[in-house]
Amino acid sequence: MEVYRGKSVFQGVAIGRISLYRKLRRTVYYNIADPAAEYERFLQAQKTALDDLAVLHKKVLTEVGKSEAEIFEVHQIMLQDPDYVGSVEDMIKTQMINAEYAVAQTNENFFSRFSAMEDTYMQARAIDIRDISERLISILAGDNDNHPGAEEPAIIIADDLVPSEIMQMEREKIMSFVMVHGSVNSHTAILARTMGIPTITGVDMVLEEELDGEFAIVDGNTGYIYIKPNEEIIFTMQKKLQTEINNKNLLQAYKNKESVTLDGRSVRLNANIGNLHDLTRALQSGAEGIGLFRSEFLYLEKDNYPSEEEQFQAYRFVVEKMAGKRVIIRTLDIGADKKINYLNLKEEENPAMGLRGIRIYFKHPQVFRTQLRALLRTAAFGKISIMYPLITSVEEVMQIKRMVEEEKENLEKEHISYGELEQGIMIETPAAVMIGDLLAKHVDFFSIGTNDLSQYILAADRQNPLLDSFFDVHHPAVLRAIEQTVQNAHNAGIWCGICGELGADRELTKRFLKMGVDELSVSPENILPLRKLIREMNTQEFKKAPEK
Ligand code: PEP
Ligand code: MG
Repeated sequence: MEVYRGKSVFQGVAIGRISLYRKLRRTVYYNIADPAAEYERFLQAQKTALDDLAVLHKKVLTEVGKSEAEIFEVHQIMLQDPDYVGSVEDMIKTQMINAEYAVAQTNENFFSRFSAMEDTYMQARAIDIRDISERLISILAGDNDNHPGAEEPAIIIADDLVPSEIMQMEREKIMSFVMVHGSVNSHTAILARTMGIPTITGVDMVLEEELDGEFAIVDGNTGYIYIKPNEEIIFTMQKKLQTEINNKNLLQAYKNKESVTLDGRSVRLNANIGNLHDLTRALQSGAEGIGLFRSEFLYLEKDNYPSEEEQFQAYRFVVEKMAGKRVIIRTLDIGADKKINYLNLKEEENPAMGLRGIRIYFKHPQVFRTQLRALLRTAAFGKISIMYPLITSVEEVMQIKRMVEEEKENLEKEHISYGELEQGIMIETPAAVMIGDLLAKHVDFFSIGTNDLSQYILAADRQNPLLDSFFDVHHPAVLRAIEQTVQNAHNAGIWCGICGELGADRELTKRFLKMGVDELSVSPENILPLRKLIREMNTQEFKKAPEK
């Protein structure tokens, strides 16, 4: 038996086989001596890719349908495109560079050319260019398995994972995540928690091929992973798993109860979701509404912008499923660790303080306006609220609200029905806290994003695992910021919730209730334990701990 320990991201025991997650290799550059042989190597890879695509085409044609299979025909044609192949040949022969690098360079040139085209059909072909190029590079580099995730339910072990990689995996195939690198405050960690997957990170282990398929047990509570566990560990962990299942069943008694304390203080307990999968779990967990739908995950799970219609369908689905309960959709929050390649944003020196959140709306207004149209159309079918991330000024709020009005006018002109929606903002920058009184006059509610708020108040990058010990979310500065925000909201007659991870921190629940927090929005798995705690709590018995 081998035992490793990392940091717990989400509790729970997982018992199963390991699936080693392999990333696509980076394209290395090297000079070659024999260009003819190198070009021949490229032609061989092209042939293998064509054969693979033919197999895929046939499989999808018989198992799914004609229109779904067509894409593989398109890829076969593109792989033989004389311009594309000619560019690779030319680079290999004139610049004496390796085939992988020539493919990567050709991909970049073609990708930007296609992305810049007016015609949306041609723009979409940029993604196909990247697809065929990645296929070629993968074959040239000798990778024979580049599908994200596992074939069967498994414990996924990876060096690290970014949110888009997780979003492209099949939820049913993930028993647990184990990562060598990564912070407990990153979006990868938040996603794992939202999905309720036992997860550990910072596990100092060498990812050798032999691990693939090996039997293992992950204990998300303690951060341990046992590889080839002995009888005793298997027995103990099976018992622990059973206890977890029993506890979960006991908590079901709280599903339809109110979230009210013994002394009569009530709070809304809502769920945070990232996609439609999470919605089922939110409903099962007895959420009183959706307090944060991270809409960017609709963008992250795709290779191209989700259209207005696709978004409208997704939002409408959520609203209808929640049947009259409040649904708060956070508008696109891309940037920092949440990257979408098709937006073609430049690498930044300091992405957490970079072009992210609402800042992107002003640089790429069309992306935001498309989302706004989908949201306004959804509002015709049920009550929705929207909120804007990373606000730092009143002017930003005014500018965004003007865009909302303009999109209403556009829909009106096009005779497309839409509804009114509540507009709130996330309070997640120190600037927003400090001018909370001014901001509160322009919006319907505040939702405190404690993840970013803590990172900016404490000057500690939430992505950096070396700073986990500095990321003290109980720091008095963070707690004072929350209290001040609640007061500013209430003074202006609006409500204030917490949707960051701190909302689920049971050590602080009583304190939040005393502050007057109106809503706690947490991952679905946290709702029932919190409700139980709240129902057994008397806030009159609260004694504020001395500030550190
Ligand atoms: C936050 O910052 O607390 C938040 C809820 O948003 P995200 O974690 O998605 O940045
Ligand atoms: Mg945030």
